[in-house]
Amino acid sequence: MAAIHLSNPVTDLYGVGPSAEEKLAKLDIYTIYDLIAFIPWRYDDWSKVGTIGSFDMTDRIDDSTGYDLSFRGTVMTNPSVNITSRKKPLTFFVSDGTGRIKLTFFNSPYLSGKFSVGDECFIHGQVTLFNGQMQMVNPYIEKAEKIADDALVRPVYHLTAGLTSSNISKWVSTALKLCGDELLSCIPLSIAEQKGFVSPKEAYMMAHFPASLEDARRAREQLAYEELILLGIGMKLYSSGHGVKEIAEQVIPSGPNAISRDLAARWNQIKSNLGFTLTSDQTAAFRDVQTDLMSTTPMNRLIQGDVGSGKTMVAALSMLITALMGKQAVLLAPTSVLATQHYKTISALMKNSGMEPVLLLGKTKASEKAEIKDKIAAGEAKVIIGTHALLTDDISFNDLALVIADEQHRFGVKQREKLLFKDEGKDGTIKSVHNLVMTATPIPRTLAMVIYGDMATSVIREKPKGRQEITTWFVNSKKSKAIEEMMSVKLAAGEQVYIVCAKIDKDETEAGSDYLVGEPVGGDESVTSVFDMKKQVDSMSNLSQYKSAVLYGSMKEKDKLETMERFIAGDIKILISTTVIEVGVDNPNANVMIIMDADRFGLSTLHQLRGRIGRGDKKSYCLLVSESRSELALSRMKMMCESSDGFELAEKDLELRGPGDFYGTRQHGIPTLRAANLYTDMKIATEATEAVNKIIEQGGEEAERLNESIKKMFELRFARKMEQL
Ligand code: ADP
Ligand code: MG
Repeated sequence: MAAIHLSNPVTDLYGVGPSAEEKLAKLDIYTIYDLIAFIPWRYDDWSKVGTIGSFDMTDRIDDSTGYDLSFRGTVMTNPSVNITSRKKPLTFFVSDGTGRIKLTFFNSPYLSGKFSVGDECFIHGQVTLFNGQMQMVNPYIEKAEKIADDALVRPVYHLTAGLTSSNISKWVSTALKLCGDELLSCIPLSIAEQKGFVSPKEAYMMAHFPASLEDARRAREQLAYEELILLGIGMKLYSSGHGVKEIAEQVIPSGPNAISRDLAARWNQIKSNLGFTLTSDQTAAFRDVQTDLMSTTPMNRLIQGDVGSGKTMVAALSMLITALMGKQAVLLAPTSVLATQHYKTISALMKNSGMEPVLLLGKTKASEKAEIKDKIAAGEAKVIIGTHALLTDDISFNDLALVIADEQHRFGVKQREKLLFKDEGKDGTIKSVHNLVMTATPIPRTLAMVIYGDMATSVIREKPKGRQEITTWFVNSKKSKAIEEMMSVKLAAGEQVYIVCAKIDKDETEAGSDYLVGEPVGGDESVTSVFDMKKQVDSMSNLSQYKSAVLYGSMKEKDKLETMERFIAGDIKILISTTVIEVGVDNPNANVMIIMDADRFGLSTLHQLRGRIGRGDKKSYCLLVSESRSELALSRMKMMCESSDGFELAEKDLELRGPGDFYGTRQHGIPTLRAANLYTDMKIATEATEAVNKIIEQGGEEAERLNESIKKMFELRFARKMEQL
């Protein structure tokens, strides 16, 4: 057999076939390294052994409530199958000297030959009452001599259907044996020594197969440290250009009389087209941008502001001032719906200014595209709006000075690089453009530092005046009659409604959406899909008279746009969609949003979705519908009902998510983390990256070692994924 390396596909491991490969891919695991890095998200501690007799079942709430118990006992009766019962359970009794308990197994006929009277066993499971008798159903059971005391901390992995924690354990164990030595440490020696860190291989051993919870905790800490260094430093090394001086054009001249009277008049025209005055946060953000545009150091600025806070207006003004100064500005939107909307807003702003924007989408007709590209190349088009279509190689700009990306996290890092249109100059400098990024997913400052490095931030906190608070309720579907009625009242008043579902149809979910790991209550089957909902709505006596339509990501662009336009025009009254509407859609007449299976979404997504309503002057309602009783889901719903502050919710979101949450990181446009928690480990992140930066700056042997191992490990672990993001 050929040697196996960290970069080999998981299928090179014995026992991982095509079906396992598919399941692992769902967990974002493709290579051996991915598998090793997939550390348990929690552990079951079976090491505290109890006794049957110490169990007091009198305070049980109901017969189905169970209590965890690990114990050692002796088999008292030979396993026998109850053939009169339909499910043919296998049962036998065990005793530990303090009491006896009945074990019941379904679908486990092999156990009958494995255990017999007198065997000493280790058992872990839930004790429940059945007909007044203590029993355990499908507990873990093993011969006592086979259970080492130090194997009683059991790893639990975030899983997808069809995989078990013991599958993962087995594969990881092999993977670590074969390639564990290829793992290079990316932590400075001085820090490793001070913190008592072990080699990466040992740390992974400890995380996957801990002897105690304390070992598991220490391993996770070390791996989080390493992961944050990899991300923080590796990202920088990877996105290159490091240390090279970059320059951009000075867009706005400084000094007295730099701006002609004619320009000033045109600028005033634009401002009067606004129709409102900017909020003070908008004014401050725009002033930040103007200051940046006066410099030849490329702007690298992030505008953070909640949905509806008026970021787009700041972006629009930034583009227009650039255009007035005779240079080109690009606005990139993640969807054609959004790009079209921006185009309309900006066209209105530019009325009577003597300039016109252009719009370039993937679906723009070839002849029209060619015309637009000519205009761009000739410098005739100065305000350019579009989607990814703008990133194709055959577009040449005349004098591009500013690139704005809306909802940045939707663009991958590599694409982001491309947007900056970096060009190598003669004198070793790199010619770049000013870069402005707008995001409505507020990123806590420390996290922004890790992801974007030294990006400057402007924050828009204050909302435009005249906005009404949105009332949010958490309800379960038993209230469907009441939900239906409230919808019909609003619809009768001429208003419109969004209904958001977690699935498109029976088995399709929206690509890239922020669903949580874990099984839905009542199984995946119970999740209401867009098409289920459409059927329901069309059959409800109060609602069927109103026109409804579906919207989801994989629809044809043309159909999506048309549906959106008809909804905004008021022709469609009820829009039933997936999270595609999360980004930027603006219909001030839609004041009700029903979010089905709300427990399936993260806080940030819920907040983004809710931001679609409350845009007009009418009272708005958001209904979160869920059957979930999980504590985590309930606390998210409670937060949503209590807060409308996106920043507060974002921080809470990170806090509620476990370490290495899959979707939380992806949402921010960074690759999956397995050990680090973006919220709780932020102090480590800053500490670790600062320490490494310092060493690398000083140079020397240790700097070289770190440089090399970080680059190598980053390539292996994250680089390919960055391309995919
Ligand atoms: P964001 O991009 O932050 O979600 P937008 O820029 O799309 O927000 O603004 C949301 C809505 O508020 C738009 O309809 C816009 O015209 C309006 N708006 C923006 N700024 C103001 C303001 N200062 N006063 C009143 N309305 C505003
Ligand atoms: Mg916007």
